[in-house]
Order: sequence, then C-alpha cells, then structure tokens
Amino acid sequence: MLKIGCHLSSSEGFTHMLQEAQSIGANTFQFFTRNPRGGDAKPLDYRDIDTFLKLKEELKVDKIIAHASYTLNLCSKDSSIRDFALRTFKDDLQRMEYIPHNYYNFHPGSHVGQGEDVGIGFIVDALNEALFEEQKTMVLLETMAGKGSEIGKTFQELKKILDGIKLQDKIGVLLDTCHVHEGGYDIIDNLEGVLSEFNDIIGLDRLKAIHLNDSINPRGAHKDRHARIGEGMIGSEALIRIINHPCLKNLPFILETPNELDGYAKEIAFLKANYKE
Ligand code: FE
Ligand code: FE
Ligand code: ZN
Repeated sequence: MLKIGCHLSSSEGFTHMLQEAQSIGANTFQFFTRNPRGGDAKPLDYRDIDTFLKLKEELKVDKIIAHASYTLNLCSKDSSIRDFALRTFKDDLQRMEYIPHNYYNFHPGSHVGQGEDVGIGFIVDALNEALFEEQKTMVLLETMAGKGSEIGKTFQELKKILDGIKLQDKIGVLLDTCHVHEGGYDIIDNLEGVLSEFNDIIGLDRLKAIHLNDSINPRGAHKDRHARIGEGMIGSEALIRIINHPCLKNLPFILETPNELDGYAKEIAFLKANYKE
C-alpha cells in the first residue's frame, strides 16, 4: 500500500491533523513542530495526544513526520543563533517523546560563508549534543537544493554529517525530489544512477522518507521552488517512477506542493491510481 500524505497545519492539534489526513485519502502526514519562523512551541495538549495515539493505532497509521522550523540554523556564524537552534532542536526532541517512534526531519543548515567543512562540524557537534540514547524518534537530514550556502545539496555532504554522529541508529535521511533535482541530480532520466550513487555514498538503508514535489525550476537551479505534481519541470511521469521504484516504494511520501486540502486530495488520488502494489 502506498504510504502517502502531505504537509498539514498543526494549529488544531494531532487528532485534527489525523482526521484531516484521512479525509483526503492520506495515511500519513507531516507538520511543523512550531511556527516555522521559530519561537516558542505551544504547550502540549495531553488529551489530544492521547486521542491521537489511539486513533493512529486503530487506523494503523505508520510513522508521521515532524518538520523542524526551516529557520533553525545549527551552523550559523553567530553563536547565539547556533545556541538558539540547538535549544529548540532539543526541546522538539523532548516533545517528540510524547508521540514516540516517529520521524523528526530538519534542514541541516546554512554555513553563511564559513565553508562546508566548518558548517558540517557545527552540525555534527550540535547533533551529538542533542541526540540521546533513550530517544524513540529518528532524526532525518533533508537533502537540500543548495540555495545560498545550504549544506546537504550533495550526498557527500550528508554522508560527512552522518559519519560524525555517535548515536548512529538515531539518524537517517529524507530525500526531497524538488531539492535533489534543483541540487543537480537527474531523477528524470537517470533515477537508477542517482539511487545507485546514493547507495554507494550514503546507503539506501538510511533513506527513511521522501518529500514528493515537482519543481518550478530546471535541474541544478539551486532555488528551491516547489510545484504541484505534473505542473513543474520534473513532471508526473518521473514522479510516478519514483513512487514505484523497488528501493523507494515502501517509504512514506509527503507532498509539499503548493495546494490547499482539495488539491492535495487530487494529487493523492492521482498517485494512488498510478501506484503498482
Ligand atoms: Fe524541508
Ligand atoms: Fe522538503
Ligand atoms: Zn523545499
């Protein structure tokens, strides 16, 4: 069965998101742990979480994905920004313990002119401080488009981060189709080659989830502009090959396409219709 969902607003709680997901034919979803621009998270609503966990079990919903604020920068040049990012990251991980065995995805960060190696060093140090033995959440590094000084635009950069992590079983990778395409990887005409490169450098066993997005821009644009499925430069044929690829077809796919709920419902129905069990 295709595991498919989309990004949803968390403002009305977990139970509401799950019901919303169900109403559009989704069996997983993604949400921001807090306002994407950062700041304090809302206090946890334990009654909502309780209802959510029961319903999640009942509906046999597999893992869901929490997405960190995209403004978090664990490798900023400014130490107060790095400290803030680390505190927020740790707080998110603590909160995730209340909805155990799910994913927490984040953008590795932007080195802002310090260079990849310095940036990667900061990210590794932060992760080693944040991850803890008892945590039930797996943290995912997202592949990035390489906008500005973003780290994570190549599989090699992600591998360098992974290699520095002490608690290896707490960390994996999430592949965003728009980002890798804009990062320069040819997932349209050479999906096989890209996946085998991923496997050689990182290992496909570390790939845990996919952000399924089309892209406004041509390959290598490094701009990070998502498009609806079939309305961008990747195109629906290539995206259908992705959801059906034997190495990917059992992973959860999350849409981050510019849509309201009805648009997501249509994309989910389209992808389900084109998925081969
Ligand atoms: Fe993201
Ligand atoms: Fe993404
Ligand atoms: Zn993006």
